[in-house]
Amino acid sequence: MVTEGLLAWYAENRRDLPWRRNRDPYRVWVSEIMLQQTRVEAVIPYYERFLAALPDVSALAAAPEEQLLKLWEGLGYYSRVRNMKKAANQILSRGGFPRTAAELKQLAGFGDYTAGAVASIAFAQRAPAVDGNVLRVWARMARVGESVKAPSVRRRCARDVLDAMPQDADPGLYNQALMELGATVCTPRSPRCLLCPVRAHCGAFAADEAEDYPVAEAQPARPVEEFTVYLIVEKGRALVRRRPDTGLLAGMWEFPHHVDGVRELPCEPVEVRHVFTHKIWQMRGVRAELTGPCEGVWADKARLAALPMNSAMEKYRQVLLESGELTDGGAD
Ligand code: SF4
Repeated sequence: MVTEGLLAWYAENRRDLPWRRNRDPYRVWVSEIMLQQTRVEAVIPYYERFLAALPDVSALAAAPEEQLLKLWEGLGYYSRVRNMKKAANQILSRGGFPRTAAELKQLAGFGDYTAGAVASIAFAQRAPAVDGNVLRVWARMARVGESVKAPSVRRRCARDVLDAMPQDADPGLYNQALMELGATVCTPRSPRCLLCPVRAHCGAFAADEAEDYPVAEAQPARPVEEFTVYLIVEKGRALVRRRPDTGLLAGMWEFPHHVDGVRELPCEPVEVRHVFTHKIWQMRGVRAELTGPCEGVWADKARLAALPMNSAMEKYRQVLLESGELTDGGAD
């Protein structure tokens, strides 16, 4: 892979993003974790809120779980923020951030990508940081005929990225330049090849096949789980429950479903479809009343608004918050 011209292009074209304003490892780390699976524009307000509430590793290590989940609410993949808290404690016990990718990988939630990004951006270590954008640029330039999801292919990409990194380049800038190229020029659809600083070295551009790479992979069908969500209000408070500490959406709050002891009330059901990476929830939200015991706590309006809830349940929360039925009177 030849990427001559990339750094000059980046110097001219880089976006001014809040996490690029300094190289503090904590800030780099928070941004890199948030940016996994989430668009830059969506991350910015989360990032700013998170840094304002938890400005450093010590604050993160001491934060209660409910605060963390609330700060992360809507970003999904909540294990990321739990791992960050674990890693913050590891960092404190060792007396500071490790500087190399190999050491960073020992921390909770640090995979190859995060370790490479923090090591190169915050500590100027020569380490590759291969995210989906970099994989796409590389697969196109080298016309890679295999799926970029295969670990062996990703390792090959990481080796090529490191080989292509000029000896005198700032490794963090180089990695960010490649990611930026993928995010803004070598986009999944309609790449802007005529503006691309590396097009002279790009196999897919030469063959007029840019959009044929990375090669598409058949997606396995996701199972669909259909169930009813019960919206139950008594004395101005809504019944909610906390999910178990492990498993899907661990520790997040939700409205009851898959329960006995409830009866549906006549209403227009509210359909919500929520797509996870491995399955789909097709939910039918109905108003209901209790007819027997049902696990949960009663939350008033303010408490309901403050609870960390997954976006699957957000629509139902809004239905109740806007219903005018909830009052401010404490939770059990
Ligand atoms: S020339 Fe086109 S396909 Fe090749 S790296 Fe640049 S934007 Fe991507």
